[in-house]
Amino acid sequence: MIPAAPARPHPVPAPNAWRQAWRDAVRDPRELLALLGLGTLAAGISDAAAAQFPLRVPRGFVARMRRGDPRDPLLRQVLPVLEEDRMVPGFTLDAVGDMQARRGGGVIHKYAGRALLVATGSCAVHCRYCFRRHYPYAEDTAAAAGWRDAVAVIAGDDAIHEVILSGGDPLSLADHKLAELTDALRAIPHLRRLRIHTRLPVVLPERVDSGLLAWLRGLPWPLVVVLHANHANEFDHAVDTALAALRGTGATLLNQAVLLRGVNDSVAALAELCERGHAAGVLPYYLHQLDRVAGAAHFEVGDHEALALHAGLAERLPGYLVPRLVREIAGQPGKTPLVTPGGSIQAAE
Ligand SMILES: *Cc1c(COP(=O)(O)O)cnc(C)c1O
Ligand code: SF4
Repeated sequence: MIPAAPARPHPVPAPNAWRQAWRDAVRDPRELLALLGLGTLAAGISDAAAAQFPLRVPRGFVARMRRGDPRDPLLRQVLPVLEEDRMVPGFTLDAVGDMQARRGGGVIHKYAGRALLVATGSCAVHCRYCFRRHYPYAEDTAAAAGWRDAVAVIAGDDAIHEVILSGGDPLSLADHKLAELTDALRAIPHLRRLRIHTRLPVVLPERVDSGLLAWLRGLPWPLVVVLHANHANEFDHAVDTALAALRGTGATLLNQAVLLRGVNDSVAALAELCERGHAAGVLPYYLHQLDRVAGAAHFEVGDHEALALHAGLAERLPGYLVPRLVREIAGQPGKTPLVTPGGSIQAAE
């Protein structure tokens, strides 16, 4: 039912083949629809939304979309549509309070022990629900500042034990850029873990090439890679191969997903996602309630329904395949778990 592709030999992609695949990404919404035999949906495209946050989707990801299906769950994640132009109260430009938590040099420090580094603003795919679609990347990324400021912030705070490379997508940076950063971080004695938040191994598996793997293998810290897939159809043989290679470096692989109307808002879709990920060696980590970012209101699933879906998932899957259902609330010390109103923890006598 949810088998990973059989383990047949599959060469690691040629070094830097990912750059070509990156450049070849589809950027014209009408071309995307034509490729899928869905030209009639063109009337629903928002040129304003596409101008604010352009369409970008690698061809390998397009190949995983179902031709002729206007409700394809992968297509829905990337196509700029008229619903994005609707102003909805409560949906804002900085939904998660990142602006107040910026420490300079691309560092966002909100949670104890962990510093998140906005390494770069680039992503291989542009997800319409992304809370960073309005983030002023050009001003404040760690790579743009040559890493110097970011490393100084981290080195100067010995309560930071974990650096999270995020973005944008940190793996959109060249291997030598990444190595520059980790070489500088090596000198910081209080670092215990390195985490990478990336969607690239899923949307552009070519990125997991020999250069990247060599860099990962050479890192001195326990490594956690948090992937981002929202639907089982995002996995294919190339993704399985990339994830197997990542696991081969000793990294722990986790997945975070966003609960999205029309993409994964059913117990069946969520269960399939968690099981398919596990077949590829990935454990579910978070299921996020949507950040209320301007332009994404049509993706929202209400809390009541989200809790019911999560309960359905817990009834169906082993505990280790059930992600934590959380929301990000500005000013909180961590992601906030959703709880049933009036729900309480039963204490044993
Ligand atoms: C989500 C997030 C983290 C990581 O939180 P975990 O619960 O450890 O996964 C760290 N810093 C920022 C700013 C975040 O938004
Ligand atoms: S940061 Fe992640 S969710 Fe946002 S557009 Fe990039 S890949 Fe998509």
